[in-house]
Amino acid sequence: MAVKVIEEKCKGCQKCVKACPFDAITMQEKIADIGPACTNCGTCVDVCPFGAIEKLEEGKKGVDVTQYHDVWVFAEQREGKLMGVSVELMGEGKKLANEIGCKLCAILCGENVDNLVDELFEYGADKVYYANDPELKTYNTDPYTKVVYKAIVKYKPEVVLLGATHVGRDLGPCLAVHCGTGLTADCTKLDIDPTDKKLMQTRPAFGGNLMATILCPNHRPQMSTVRPGVMEKPKREAGKKGELIKLNVEFKEGDIRAKVLEVVKGLTEKVSLTDAKVIVSGGAGLGNPEGFKLIKQLADRLGGVVGSSRAAVDAGWIDHSHQVGQTGTTVKPELYIACGISGAIQHLAGMQTSKTIVAINKNENAPIFEVADYGIVGDLYKVIPAILDALG
Ligand SMILES: Cc1cc2nc3c(=O)[nH]c(=O)nc-3n(C[C@H](O)[C@H](O)[C@H](O)COP(=O)(O)OP(=O)(O)OC[C@H]3O[C@@H](n4cnc5c(N)ncnc54)[C@H](O)[C@@H]3O)c2cc1C
Repeated sequence: MAVKVIEEKCKGCQKCVKACPFDAITMQEKIADIGPACTNCGTCVDVCPFGAIEKLEEGKKGVDVTQYHDVWVFAEQREGKLMGVSVELMGEGKKLANEIGCKLCAILCGENVDNLVDELFEYGADKVYYANDPELKTYNTDPYTKVVYKAIVKYKPEVVLLGATHVGRDLGPCLAVHCGTGLTADCTKLDIDPTDKKLMQTRPAFGGNLMATILCPNHRPQMSTVRPGVMEKPKREAGKKGELIKLNVEFKEGDIRAKVLEVVKGLTEKVSLTDAKVIVSGGAGLGNPEGFKLIKQLADRLGGVVGSSRAAVDAGWIDHSHQVGQTGTTVKPELYIACGISGAIQHLAGMQTSKTIVAINKNENAPIFEVADYGIVGDLYKVIPAILDALG
């Protein structure tokens, strides 16, 4: 959109000058003049009593959406292993493909990761597009973007799903910009509109206080990055086969601008909250970092891992890799024990689908009790040792 003054209608009242949030409008010989600071926000259009400022809608051309078919999952691999979120997306992708009435395909990039092709078939892929090249061994923006973008242009998928990992969050927007299409980041729910088969992409917005459902009606592919740990993993069907399509990979001088020198593994690699069956989490109610020793004791006793609220991370008591919630990890264990955690919406967003939730909190009105299956009102420093005693 752009805005334009219709000079014949302007009466020089200066209402637009006062209303412009960017001081972009000045008076030139008693006629409003829109300068380069204009962001096309349209405030002036609404305040002008004489209809002297108009919006110019730029042509929204879109593409011929009928040419695009199939649901694609970007099969992210690291060190020759499929990322859990890619497996989850195979399950979700199959559901979407069935609802649209199209095929589920995976696109895989790597070096000699042929074994993953079979794995993807076994997780439900009808077709696997496979790019095998030394430059694709480790994720790098340029080569991955080039290969996947070329495949999108050639094979025209209707939907492309990526895990909202660091890789997916980097690759997704690059692809969307190249394709001139829309991307919804960090989705927690995907559905197909039964009337027109379009993808409805839902993600938390405004600090998780509302859920926004976003559509991409006129451009293709419809692209989403999806939060790890939210979708169900499909059952693996041993021996299932599909069609393998090998992608031609060619890089010219200057195609790859960044070089990966070394991959340094952080602590995050060691804390596998998404795969844990039991998580014992501590929050600000611990009162001090030492409290996590008690949390760890209980987690160890139950064969689980330690989680935390953001308040505990912000206090510097524990590393962010342990954080559960909207800006941490989304988890779905068999058992989630929240100790000294109030149950803010941003925390609940990351754990409320856990199978059984136990809350230990001094305050019987804490919101965590609203999602808890079992609640213990009491001081965690008395309750946890009692549980440990009872466990023997
Ligand atoms: C954009 C945004 C994103 C966010 N993302 C996340 C996120 O990913 N994860 C997250 O957790 N938060 C997140 N937050 C922060 C969130 O809003 C809360 O501030 C945070 O979850 C509070 O952590 P808490 O429950 O540990 O602390 P508090 O809210 O301070 O609660 C402490 C609780 O401990 C109880 N307590 C105190 N002493 C004891 C005791 N001895 N025994 C038992 N109970 C006791 C208290 O009754 C209280 O209920 C986010 C916030 C924003 C704005």
